[in-house]
Amino acid sequence: MDIKENINALKISLPQYLKLVLVTKTQPDEKILEAYNAGQKIFGENKVQELITKASRLPKDIEWHFIGHLQSNKVKYIAPFVSMIHSVDSLKLLQIINKEALRNNRIVDCLFQMYIAQEETKFGLTLDEIVTIITSSELKELKNIRMKGLMGMASFTENKEQVRSELRFLADTFKKLKEKYYHDDDNFKELSMGMSDDYTIAIEEGSTIARIGTLIFGERM
Ligand SMILES: *Cc1c(COP(=O)(O)O)cnc(C)c1O
Repeated sequence: MDIKENINALKISLPQYLKLVLVTKTQPDEKILEAYNAGQKIFGENKVQELITKASRLPKDIEWHFIGHLQSNKVKYIAPFVSMIHSVDSLKLLQIINKEALRNNRIVDCLFQMYIAQEETKFGLTLDEIVTIITSSELKELKNIRMKGLMGMASFTENKEQVRSELRFLADTFKKLKEKYYHDDDNFKELSMGMSDDYTIAIEEGSTIARIGTLIFGERM
């Protein structure tokens, strides 16, 4: 696998507005540096320990996104540097992210992770739960987080029509929330959906951020 070639080929095929988060989980530093040297500066990790060790060793101008399930007691380790957390699944977690961001004198961008798959996946909010958080008085007090939009993962299936309908549901929900609650907030504009197997569908359905690993690095060890 030639990482640089893969990145260049992928980038040519992506629309200009799309942000590519290159998912580096389980990848060694050398491979990540190859991607970095090919011009990629935004990387995503799904485990706190792995993220902090990589961030400490790799170049400081990398923009790190956290994309996995985040436990409250681990927020403090990533708050000093993480640029976006895609996986917010409770108000409590948001309050802790806010507290740790404040402690670091930072503002951390966040996405609500929405549960859209038909299969039994463990994390993510329902529409009702998202609305409850958005309309709560507690959320308005959090000045060191910025809600940027939604993230979701479609079912792991060969059925492309099912994948499309789940991603479309996420995109529709995003539009409705934007209209109803964030129409005068320019920050709420990101839709993080699309992985190696479904990013073309995700883009057709309105994705603004794709999270892609395997397509660039090959199968994970
Ligand atoms: C691993 C992972 C990805 C990337 O998956 P690929 O199939 O390797 O592109 C995207 N999003 C999340 C949340 C992940 O955990």
